[in-house]
Amino acid sequence: MPELPEVETIARRLHSGQGAIPLPGRRIVQFSTSWPRHVELPSISTFRRRIKNRVIQSVGRRAKYLLFPLDLGALIIHLRMSGDLYLRPPDAEKDPYVHSAFHLDNGWQLRFSDARKFGRIYWTRDPQEVLENLGPEPLEDNFTAEVLQDHLHARRRQLKPLLLDQSFLAGMGNIYVDESLHRARLHPLRRSDTLKKPEIERLWESIRTSLREGIRHNGASIDWVYGGGDYQNHFRVYKQDGQPCDFCGASIERTVVGQRGTYFCPGCQQENIA
Ligand SMILES: [Zn+2]
Repeated sequence: MPELPEVETIARRLHSGQGAIPLPGRRIVQFSTSWPRHVELPSISTFRRRIKNRVIQSVGRRAKYLLFPLDLGALIIHLRMSGDLYLRPPDAEKDPYVHSAFHLDNGWQLRFSDARKFGRIYWTRDPQEVLENLGPEPLEDNFTAEVLQDHLHARRRQLKPLLLDQSFLAGMGNIYVDESLHRARLHPLRRSDTLKKPEIERLWESIRTSLREGIRHNGASIDWVYGGGDYQNHFRVYKQDGQPCDFCGASIERTVVGQRGTYFCPGCQQENIA
């Protein structure tokens, strides 16, 4: 599933136009879909009316959502499992997973490729209607180690499922949680209220470093259609089971936490606190 760095990469590409046409300033003339269930809000017929002739003001991101403020309301897209969004001229060959497309005033199309069809599209006057219950953005200045400490100590949950919880912290998924926990040398099952200050500072730093590294590599291309990044070549633990840890040489292990495959180093990430 695309996580914060992949969604951020897509947002930046659409904003800048991928070397072709920037999306801001373009007017949507038509929406076409072969999978109407992509549209979650409002009804598909109302959506078509609301979206028609709206001008895209900018492209941004909140958590794993792509945000397109319009001259009236906002378009919001969640890529879910396998989604990708890109701009193509009208005569460009259509990949078989493009189920929805926004036709723009200059003839280009914003295509929503989504092999598994779990993606969702929203139009709303108030983005908060869709974006409620999201935790802080980990790369924003107001997300400090102190904020993380308060939130960790207010819960009594294992780190892995807690960091995946979008109401606790926005934008992280399986890849970046595992990478962050390894970087911070914390076991995925460690309980959040037992973390000491130096551990919390390591975790805070590790989350931000992992996400920034991911963005620097244009995200990771793995398990889904999005193919723009190469962070998968720099994973420390994710899907590296059996490989030696870069730090201690121990063999990376895979376990299952809350039904999610979880990768960690048994040398660096000890479960019991000394
Ligand atoms: Zn290790």
